Amino acid sequence: MSSRADAVVLFGATGDLVRKKLMPALYELAKVGRLGVPVIGVARSAWEDERLRSHARESVEATGRGPVDEAAFGELAQSLSMLVGDYGDAALYDELAQRLQGAQRPVFYLAIPPSVFAKVVQGLASAGLAARGRVIVEKPFGRDQESARELNGWLAGAFDQQSIFRIDHYLGKESVEGLLVFRFANTFLEPFWNRNHVAGVQITLGEAFGTEGRAGFYDGVGAVRDVLQNHLLQVVALLAMEPPIADDADAYRDEEVKVLRQISPLEPRNTVRGQYVGYLDEDGVGEDSTTETFVSTCLTIESWRWAGVPFYLRTGKHMPGSATEAVVELRRPPRLLFAGQDADVPSTNLVRFRLGHSDGVTMSVQAKAPGARTVTQPVDLRVDFESALGHRREAYERLLDDAMDGRRHRFAREDTIEEEWRIVAPILDLPDRPVPYYKGTWGPPSTHPPAGGWHEVALRS
Ligand code: NDP
Repeated sequence: MSSRADAVVLFGATGDLVRKKLMPALYELAKVGRLGVPVIGVARSAWEDERLRSHARESVEATGRGPVDEAAFGELAQSLSMLVGDYGDAALYDELAQRLQGAQRPVFYLAIPPSVFAKVVQGLASAGLAARGRVIVEKPFGRDQESARELNGWLAGAFDQQSIFRIDHYLGKESVEGLLVFRFANTFLEPFWNRNHVAGVQITLGEAFGTEGRAGFYDGVGAVRDVLQNHLLQVVALLAMEPPIADDADAYRDEEVKVLRQISPLEPRNTVRGQYVGYLDEDGVGEDSTTETFVSTCLTIESWRWAGVPFYLRTGKHMPGSATEAVVELRRPPRLLFAGQDADVPSTNLVRFRLGHSDGVTMSVQAKAPGARTVTQPVDLRVDFESALGHRREAYERLLDDAMDGRRHRFAREDTIEEEWRIVAPILDLPDRPVPYYKGTWGPPSTHPPAGGWHEVALRS
């Protein structure tokens, strides 16, 4: 089934994800003439159509991306309607089936808490809607390997495998996808992209903000499930995988799963979990909560390309800034002529992929320092993709568009998600209390740092 969807159903239409990401994405699709289908919001809250429309307006305005394009917003508003009911009630799905009578390929977006997924999937199947529809499921996909398998089982019992779209929105980011292109379209990189030349890799995903009013949700999740299991391991896979043998969704996922399988389970002794000071006072957080708001760890990949190269990962809330970066550090050059007796050994070359805002690549190389002596000084070769390439579409807009088209390139496959859960299993739900850290720092001082420490993160100025 690969033709375009003819309806979108948003379960959880009153929620945070719809407000922050999905409404703006639908609006952007309308702007480029890619919407053109009815959008039905489903929720328990007794919202009327008008309420959903004004909510959509507020979401679009809140993105701060300039004046609203009234024609596009008008199209979105026209397409919106509400359906209110209880997810356990068959009448809700009968009513939905009525509304979707004319639709051959509806897309169902489960923007609801995972605890409700099974109920909704069952309701859609019983009403005969799953058989002709596509379903989009958000991350985290399950809570561990076993629950991910269970969720896959429910989904596969109702939907065709080709119609299940598992979102890790990192796969929809132009900057993250750009890692693959940068690696495999630039010949100069390949000869040194291996353990002979790479000393180590550091990946940081820092969030300057906290739980943003969602502490109740976050407390049941934590940094390992929220970010490490999905976003960070995706970045590792894209940096480390072999080139896909074809440009199709399965060829990509085949290579990804291969490299994930070569990663040993993470070890608690290499892992530091942190919790920012003040977290326990937030509404919705258990008073003795051991949920981590920061984690740092290290993994290795047992392959001919990567054996012995440490991949350091860290992510946390209330960090000094918001940034996602992967820094690949090459081995140190010999000193040769460049030092004399008293000068420093030249620093290492770094290839820094900036994957968040102001995305791009920076390569730190050695140049001759001005003056009489032949000594080196690091300089940056930097490209900012926004200025070089112009505006790129947001992840959720691309992913919604893809799912509507039935394109699966940018969605996770069942086996990749299971591998990710296998890797993080030993550090899930550790009983020890996370180490406290102050907001605005890079986590607890006791993190096991890479030899030589973490490279400074390029924060947005
Ligand atoms: P919310 O907590 O905002 O919930 C969404 C909606 O679901 C609520 O507005 C509520 O609507 C309904 N709901 C809440 N609890 C229940 C319940 N127990 N039974 C039935 N309905 C309920 O979730 P988010 O929008 O934040 O997230 C939705 C999904 O997306 C989740 O799976 C989350 O993990 C995932 N996600 C969210 C991100 C985000 O930034 N928010 C980012 C990445 C993934 P009503 O009461 O009106 O029915």
